[in-house]
Amino acid sequence: MTPERFQKIMRVLGKRQPTLSVLMDEVNKPHNFSAILRTCDAVGVMTAHAVPPKSGELPTFGSRAFEATSGSAHKWVKVQPQTDAVSAVRELQAQGVQVLATHLSQRSVDYRESDYTRPTCVLLGAEKWGVSDAAAEAADGNIIIPMFGMVQSLNVSVAAATILFEAQRQRLAAGMYDMPQLASDDLARVAFEWAYPDLAAEYQERGEPYPVLDGEGQMVGTGQ
Ligand code: SAM
Repeated sequence: MTPERFQKIMRVLGKRQPTLSVLMDEVNKPHNFSAILRTCDAVGVMTAHAVPPKSGELPTFGSRAFEATSGSAHKWVKVQPQTDAVSAVRELQAQGVQVLATHLSQRSVDYRESDYTRPTCVLLGAEKWGVSDAAAEAADGNIIIPMFGMVQSLNVSVAAATILFEAQRQRLAAGMYDMPQLASDDLARVAFEWAYPDLAAEYQERGEPYPVLDGEGQMVGTGQ
């Protein structure tokens, strides 16, 4: 770990947005899944919740399409598996997060009308079926990117990018990238995991706290 590499990690973590996330409901194509993770990384999203497709498991990190499209973003964005969209929506809402479903319904609004400076999760639907009516109803709001062409919908990763960069725009204007949004203990924990992933796994296995790092990423003491 060079000091420069560690400083880059700290710069990136200083702009992470723990109160912004996505929930992918059965997004099954590896290139879409990984393109969404790549956008999450660029915007500062830390967690991508994902309901696996009924037909199988979540797109795997080992596949060539996945690795090629994600640009290693899967290392920097946590994929949190969820059993189903409706219970994931309710769990997020119980934590004070507004869930915005990308879904055309009577109550849909233009995605630019939503306030993304609030704790927010963007619910994205499967390529074939979109967001289920049940999940869209459970969500706090339904948002839509206006379409004026012959085709009815965008590719899911394009829709995700469009909405997440609107969230970034609003959060930039609100100064949310100017100071760390992560609590200092979370920042120190994730910094260690990013700087020393193999070692972090060993500490986790032993149930021991991570060592303390100095400003150059060197281990200087034992954690509490
Ligand atoms: N046949 C599906 C349907 O009826 O919803 C189309 C799904 S679309 C290919 C896949 C996902 O991309 C959607 O569930 C939504 O998350 C996102 N999406 C695509 N176009 C969108 C738009 N114009 N506004 C908001 N989200 C969109």
